[in-house]
Amino acid sequence: MVSEPAHSKWVAVKANIATREGPTNCGSAFLADYTSPFDATVVDRLKQHGYRIGLKTNMDEFGMGSFGLHSAFGSVTNPALDATAQPRVAGGSSSGSAAVVAAGQVPLALGSDTGGSVRVPAAFCGIVGYKPSYGRLSRWGLVSYASSFDCVGVLASSVDQAEAAMQVMQGHDSRDETSLNVDWAAQEAQDTPVRRVGVIQEAVIHELAPAMHDRWELALQQLAQQHCLEIDTVSVPTLKQALAAYYMLVSAEAASNLSRYNGLCYGAQSGAPETFDGFFDMYSSNRTQYLGDSVKQRIMTGNHILSRGKFDSYYLTAARVRAQLTLELQRVFERVDVLVLPTTADVAPTIEAARNIEPVQEYATDVYTVPFSLAGLPAISVPCGRDPQSSAPMGLQVVAPRQLDHRAAHVARLLE
Ligand code: GLN
Repeated sequence: MVSEPAHSKWVAVKANIATREGPTNCGSAFLADYTSPFDATVVDRLKQHGYRIGLKTNMDEFGMGSFGLHSAFGSVTNPALDATAQPRVAGGSSSGSAAVVAAGQVPLALGSDTGGSVRVPAAFCGIVGYKPSYGRLSRWGLVSYASSFDCVGVLASSVDQAEAAMQVMQGHDSRDETSLNVDWAAQEAQDTPVRRVGVIQEAVIHELAPAMHDRWELALQQLAQQHCLEIDTVSVPTLKQALAAYYMLVSAEAASNLSRYNGLCYGAQSGAPETFDGFFDMYSSNRTQYLGDSVKQRIMTGNHILSRGKFDSYYLTAARVRAQLTLELQRVFERVDVLVLPTTADVAPTIEAARNIEPVQEYATDVYTVPFSLAGLPAISVPCGRDPQSSAPMGLQVVAPRQLDHRAAHVARLLE
């Protein structure tokens, strides 16, 4: 038996996943000095299987961002391009985790994926990004952004490496009520082989870059010709509303989750108040001073959506879109076994271009990833070559029905 090289068990961990060693600052000035007194369940389980925590990685503040430019501790540059090329973003929000794997510093990194934060940086950096079914991995010790979406995910150089780590980390955790009690090996053993690949017709949008479209078609051809899979066009009409619904729902959840950052319980404190009203002043001055702009934007949007008079028209409408989309995807999976589509519509933008992008355009980066987060489905991004013009990496995503993560892993391996 060949023994594994010592470094193969080093793992980097995103700064919003609690580890006893290193900072758990979530990319936020608010938690700049925070260190966790405990390990997240996923970290604990990795350690029990011989993995070692090598690095904590930079990220968009509290997971909010698609480019890795919203951290209090500086931005992350994409290491997949040579030094002569114009610097590009690494993607976000698991920007540091993707960059250290792509740069070969560690074979594996943990990230979190609420709406694409593992898959987008994986695609931009030319590595594998694996978001499991919602609930497969415990969220205990993952700092909450939008709890009904948040998943721990894995960034790695191969699907096998990512899957090996998943298997060590999976399993019910009594400290996370949403963690699943599923026999994952039995799910795989009882499943029928993958035969049909679905292509969502609504995923062909005008923002899709021609090189990305070509690469998608080539992959489908390869699956049909080399692996004898049937390719079927399917329709998911609500796909078009997914992005708007996602940003409304996550902002609402974030406004609630982030209310704990007031300077009393965690992190930044600007001096103890002397009067009762002083607590309110302290609360607002801490939040004004230590939270970044993108986080404040989400909190304000979220509170607006949750306010009386807006709740029905925004929150409930978005919740209905989520339910409808989930239903449509369930129906699609009665016809096909997996879906294959691009992870992003285009390659990573240059850092300069990304800095000048309006927030709404940044949100649009997630157009292909958020639908499956809304439905809690497993989705794996695999590298699929480079853009002939910029030579920036491109990624394709394989999506499977809930709790059938192995199907996504199987087809992702065929595309590797
Ligand atoms: N870019 C998306 C957002 O800002 C996704 C982030 C994530 O998955 N953490 O919400």
